[in-house]
Amino acid sequence: MSKSIQSFNPSNGELLGEVNSASRDEVVQTIRQSKSAQKVWKKLPINERVRTIIRAYQHLDQYADSLSELLAREMGKDIRRATGEATGAIYMGQHYAEEAHRALNTRKLSGSTELQYRPLGVVGVISPWNYPVMMANNLIVPALVAGNSVILKPSEETPLIAEAFFGELQKHLPEGVLTILHGDRETGEALVEGDIQMIAFTGSKATGQDIMRRAASKVKRLVMELGGKDPMIVMRDANLEQAARFAVAGSFENSGQMCTSIERIYVDDRIAEKFEQRVTEIANMYQIGPWDMPNVNIGPIINATQHGKIVEQLKDAQQKGATFLLGGIEQPDRYIRPTVITGMTPEMKLETEETFGPVVAITRYSNIDDAIERANASEYGLGAVVFGNQGANEVADELDAGMVGINQGQGGSGDAPWVGAKQSGLGYHGSVDGHRQFAQVKVVSK
Ligand code: NAD
Repeated sequence: MSKSIQSFNPSNGELLGEVNSASRDEVVQTIRQSKSAQKVWKKLPINERVRTIIRAYQHLDQYADSLSELLAREMGKDIRRATGEATGAIYMGQHYAEEAHRALNTRKLSGSTELQYRPLGVVGVISPWNYPVMMANNLIVPALVAGNSVILKPSEETPLIAEAFFGELQKHLPEGVLTILHGDRETGEALVEGDIQMIAFTGSKATGQDIMRRAASKVKRLVMELGGKDPMIVMRDANLEQAARFAVAGSFENSGQMCTSIERIYVDDRIAEKFEQRVTEIANMYQIGPWDMPNVNIGPIINATQHGKIVEQLKDAQQKGATFLLGGIEQPDRYIRPTVITGMTPEMKLETEETFGPVVAITRYSNIDDAIERANASEYGLGAVVFGNQGANEVADELDAGMVGINQGQGGSGDAPWVGAKQSGLGYHGSVDGHRQFAQVKVVSK
């Protein structure tokens, strides 16, 4: 008998709906169907595949409001952010389709040799709950443009929005080209172990490692977008107001449930007091609440386990001598109030483990080399940020991260890839180079 997965509103525990979880047999069966569909899909000229994908996204436009609302209800982010994600994904679907088209055209090399980008076969996309639409979307589009079929395994925390968004998209693509399989870890494992050729994964490092182990026996292609512990360095001559605003916004965005959340701040001790004071004033203006409450900018934490982990980190920090400038270890159910801590040390979980909650964690430095060393001490290396003027470029140069922002966030321009260094990932996506990772390079000499 197949299991079902229930989905709840994280702000009040209300049951929103349920979906069927795919058994191992169903996973095998779906892969078989996906393979047959891929054989036809890959034969279409790339411009026809791109046209079909763009048209499919255009159909989604009319549902933007209802998709945004469902995303907000199920994941917990406020309606403004949910609308940004849903409409952004509809736009990015089309943009990525065009960009991937350019990326995957055959290239002439010298002599009579050419480099082709050929489909791999069936790609399994496994996605997280924190950006339940955008994260899956970013990996599905280049995979489809390259002529692969895709099986999406969305997070068990947010199956309804995945079903609504990608289920609608699926209706406008040839049958079997995009399939959704719901389930938890077991379904994910069955998909990874199945007869598929690539896994494009976004989620935690621990799950990523498990996927890599299971994928190793058949040397399956991998794109792994994993966790982060982004540092921010605030130098003595930084614009204090700008730095303080960024520190709070970067730590609280998506309730801190973001892979590139600012998780650790190293501030020059000559400006630290003023910086901490301003950060606390700004943080104090943030409001917790459900998705539909006006002026809310920190939503609920996705589930009790995640909430417990954050509180545990706060307690650990307090026991090891940190000072709370705002918030504390007493937190309401389902929410973490805006929290500002100073006196973070390398012994604290707050400095070493992904927090994934609305916490500004600050420490002071007297020597920039120490700040750089601590910033780089993490196993992760997704993003990093430095605020300052003289010497800021040199500091940025030293930071071990895939994406670095100087006096701004780490994201870069629209045609930049999304990429992690160290244990934040393997391979990457986005941009012409990123899209190419969803194809097999084939050198043909005629
Ligand atoms: P998670 O690893 O718990 O789950 C992600 C997905 O993997 C879910 O669909 C889950 O069901 C599935 N899964 C779990 N175990 C599996 C297994 N053994 N085999 C196959 N699939 C399995 O992560 P999460 O809690 O959903 O997401 C939060 C994490 O994602 C954070 O670490 C965050 O930093 C990371 N993240 C990274 C990026 C990025 O771009 N680097 C973006 C968003 C989130």
